[in-house]
Amino acid sequence: MIVVSSCLAGKECRYNGTHRLVDKIQELVKQNKAMMVCPELLGGFSTPREPAEIVGGTGEDVLKGKAAVISQSGADVTSMYIDGAFKALEIVQQVQATHIVLKEDSPSCGSIQIYNGEFSGSKINGEGVTTALLRKEGFNVISEQKFWELTLSD
Ligand code: SF4
Repeated sequence: MIVVSSCLAGKECRYNGTHRLVDKIQELVKQNKAMMVCPELLGGFSTPREPAEIVGGTGEDVLKGKAAVISQSGADVTSMYIDGAFKALEIVQQVQATHIVLKEDSPSCGSIQIYNGEFSGSKINGEGVTTALLRKEGFNVISEQKFWELTLSD
């Protein structure tokens, strides 16, 4: 089973109520070859919601308690991001995911880059909180940009 970010399958669950549809990913969901997760909704957020960024490090640092996830208005929403990451991990373990494709740049789902915590549009190298947890638990996470690497027959 493939696990994908819900917004990549067309669900309008991003902070601003939009999706980031990748047709092929949506097709896999329709064929029951992939299942959707949205760590932020799993963590208790609703849509729309305030944007948030990791301040002081990366998702890995958040898991170590060395960085925080802060909303644009300054609220500390770290615990909801961590909750969502653990709930996503439970799903990934339950379905024994063989491939995981999560949306790049997100403070939850980013796998190569995330925003730098200044709400300026600038990015740094690093993972979101969910990606960091899944990788720590031994799962391979790629972004939609690397989706072509998947062996779709799995
Ligand atoms: S948490 Fe992940 S799945 Fe949910 S909207 Fe953000 S990028 Fe998409």
